[in-house]
Amino acid sequence: MGARIGVLALQGAFAAHAAALQRLGVRADEVRVAGDLAECDALVMPGGESTTMSQLLETSHLFDPLAKRIADGMPVFGTCAGMILLSRHIADGRPDQRSFAALDIDVQRNAYGRQLDSFETEIAVQGFDRAFHAVFIRAPRISRIGSEIETLATYDGKPVLVRSNTVMAASFHPELADDDRVHQLFLNMVQG
Ligand code: GLN
Repeated sequence: MGARIGVLALQGAFAAHAAALQRLGVRADEVRVAGDLAECDALVMPGGESTTMSQLLETSHLFDPLAKRIADGMPVFGTCAGMILLSRHIADGRPDQRSFAALDIDVQRNAYGRQLDSFETEIAVQGFDRAFHAVFIRAPRISRIGSEIETLATYDGKPVLVRSNTVMAASFHPELADDDRVHQLFLNMVQG
């Protein structure tokens, strides 16, 4: 225990992540400027709108300090828009949209639920003894995954929960599940 987890709070669904982390007994602090980031041992990037988040990361001078922390090995967990921000290539993004290329995956924005916008389903997660309730909201689809990246869950034949040594990403919204097991997986990565 004792790890301080930042939750990127520029835009989007950050409050529910902070609540999940606090239920698991860790300190969760909102991150809006580089000074906030310096206080954190790990970071959650929430869902929201990745194009807007990309712009706000630039205007708040957070993009470069955050890229450096990620390159230095700070553990990061991105969900939905957060996954898009961690990816290498973004299909159907805005031309000026930036990402951290922290995880060797390519994504296509808004690829799930085009008709419905959002849907919920039960998925099997590696190591979990029962299904996880996954909420997908205009979710990105992983279109390419590097051979070093571990797939922890799939939906419709595609990875939806993936991780490397220090970075984990979900297409869905585990913070909306009333079930903190995916956040606990991230804390296990942080706390070793
Ligand atoms: N479609 C959003 C984006 O491209 C992601 C949706 C979400 O985070 N719920 O950023």
